[in-house]
Amino acid sequence: MKKIQMVDLGSQYERIQSEIDQAVLEVIRSTAFINGLSVKRFTQNLAQFLKVKHVIPCANGTDALQIALMALDLQPGDEVITSDFTFIATAEVIALLRLKPVLVDVLPDTFNIDPQAIRKAITPKTKVIIPVHLYGQMADMDEILQIARDHNLIVIEDAAQSIGSQYFSNDGNTYYSGTMGHIGCTSFFPSKNLGAYGDGGAIFTNSDILAEKLSMIANHGSKVRYYHEVIGVNSRLDTIQAAILEIKLQYLEEYNQRRNQAAQYYDQQFANHPFIITPYRDPKSTHVFHQYTIKVPSEHRNPLQKFLADKEIPSMLYYPVPFHRQKAYQHYGYHDKDFPVSNDLSERVLSLPMHSELTEEQLAYITSNVLAYFKNLS
Ligand SMILES: *Cc1c(COP(=O)(O)O)cnc(C)c1O
Repeated sequence: MKKIQMVDLGSQYERIQSEIDQAVLEVIRSTAFINGLSVKRFTQNLAQFLKVKHVIPCANGTDALQIALMALDLQPGDEVITSDFTFIATAEVIALLRLKPVLVDVLPDTFNIDPQAIRKAITPKTKVIIPVHLYGQMADMDEILQIARDHNLIVIEDAAQSIGSQYFSNDGNTYYSGTMGHIGCTSFFPSKNLGAYGDGGAIFTNSDILAEKLSMIANHGSKVRYYHEVIGVNSRLDTIQAAILEIKLQYLEEYNQRRNQAAQYYDQQFANHPFIITPYRDPKSTHVFHQYTIKVPSEHRNPLQKFLADKEIPSMLYYPVPFHRQKAYQHYGYHDKDFPVSNDLSERVLSLPMHSELTEEQLAYITSNVLAYFKNLS
């Protein structure tokens, strides 16, 4: 059996090696390393795939979030509501721009931001909501967009983990993640569902006005070279990465399907287990399983991880420390008791290997060992 990895990029590459190698070589031979043809082609293809009007490429997902916030003409101290249970980047950029990260708790079943908690957190200074579609399933966008309309707020979707997932809206339409809010952000970090072979990111919007601002900010605040209208940053998607992404975009649906098959296998093996709670499937969103994350009793989480590691089965804790407990953010004065769900999840979640190349043999080995851990208890 092939060694099990959290994400097996090597095996995935082997299946598309000739296409990738050729595309990379083409870029090198063209020497159009910055803003080459593939950047334009990939962003157009992605816009078409996601059915969104504009895709603005940038250097990584964190930059995407930062540029999105920079485009909104916010004032220092303005409040941005986001999830307490997410990767640090989401709230880091809020703090970096001297805005105030207002954290709210998540729902215990979906791990996504709790709309009720958003409503309670709104103040006259609230300007933006950033829902994170954690692990690949979308947050309650109908409700979040309704809250935004009620309070005249901007919604920026963090779709770094959810590219390709779809939402069945109350308006009767189906939308890809990242295309429902005013702005959507994603990451092409290698381990993401649409991963480059280095860093990359993109910003989505259906607004022409925002699109112009976003691309200007990503390009040193400039539309015409050497004329700078606003303060911007330098954030570009590398041409070689775009060439790789252009190819991998064609496989995204297949990759997400394979992830779903692996998730189904896990689900079946763990069904009705007294100690294992499998990921909840929200009927309003498809799931692209960026992560397959189970919940187990807190006293078993770390011992289970160790038991699996001894059997050469990797697993990860996403995330062991909720945002409000992070050392760098203590001066915001968060109250631990405001985050019962996030605190509980941080002690109970365990993400199992999840990628497009898992074999049935590997899945059987992983699941039988997870089950063996609990069997050995009795
Ligand atoms: C990966 C990730 C990011 C940041 O992406 P980078 O490309 O690594 O900067 C932001 N938010 C979430 C939820 C992520 O998972």
